[in-house]
Amino acid sequence: MKLTIAHLYPTVMSQYGDRGNLVALLQRCHRRGIDTEVLELNLGAVVDGDGVDLLLIGGGADSHQRLISEDLIEIKGPGIRRAVEGGAAGLAICAGYQLFGHYYRTADGTDLPGLGIFDAHTVHRAAEIGARLDTITQAGEVRAVGNLVLRWGDRNLVGFENHGGRTYLHPGAQPLGEVVVGQGNNSQDGHEGCVYRNLIGTYLHGPALPKNPHLVDHLISDALRRHDAGMVLPRLDDQVEWRAHTCALDRTSPGVSRRRVSPRRWPSGGRRAGRASGAPSVPA
Ligand code: GLN
Repeated sequence: MKLTIAHLYPTVMSQYGDRGNLVALLQRCHRRGIDTEVLELNLGAVVDGDGVDLLLIGGGADSHQRLISEDLIEIKGPGIRRAVEGGAAGLAICAGYQLFGHYYRTADGTDLPGLGIFDAHTVHRAAEIGARLDTITQAGEVRAVGNLVLRWGDRNLVGFENHGGRTYLHPGAQPLGEVVVGQGNNSQDGHEGCVYRNLIGTYLHGPALPKNPHLVDHLISDALRRHDAGMVLPRLDDQVEWRAHTCALDRTSPGVSRRRVSPRRWPSGGRRAGRASGAPSVPA
């Protein structure tokens, strides 16, 4: 079984170490003997909607979003839509997340059209309040910056956020989780991220995946189920990754119960992808 990953705009959209998300995905596949292929899809490259199992896009500044917006819709849009509707997994971080919604209104008030896969839109806080950003200090005042922890089902996700945009989910859109620490989508409604089919949008930088191994495996499982619906991932010895997760959680939100941190119990039935390696995932 082979997992094909489409890394969208790797040279433009990879802020605050977001490329580490790709590394985490590849590592957890390789340790299980799952073959991977990474398609680095820069400006001008199309997405093969039937051949891609997992879509990955990182964050970037408004200027980066301006650079890719047209290409995302015109060149890559049809393939991305086909992949998502066909059940491909996906992770869109921050600026990438924003452009998977209907539009992003930048700090200077320009509307950049998005794919509209997430039923949501984003407006930069400066555009919302009509503020001019002439200095770094002014720019900093309207940004949502800091640690970000969210409840994701009965577990937590940890990372940090740094964005001026505020994302508003439309009625019926499903948030990824609820903010425990930080500001999330828009600093107001307590929601963080968005989910559509197997596509996840989130403001979690960090990079997000290395210290959220349960999220990595969630994405890999969704992606591989395109090939084998009954597939179950073998366990890994990932105590180090869980220690990183717990450490980040303890630093930012010491009051949060460890019970919520526990990774999902591995189901016992089903077929396994690749080979098992090492001991079960157990958080510290
Ligand atoms: N430019 C966007 C904003 O400031 C996205 C930032 C990012 O990807 N970190 O809202």
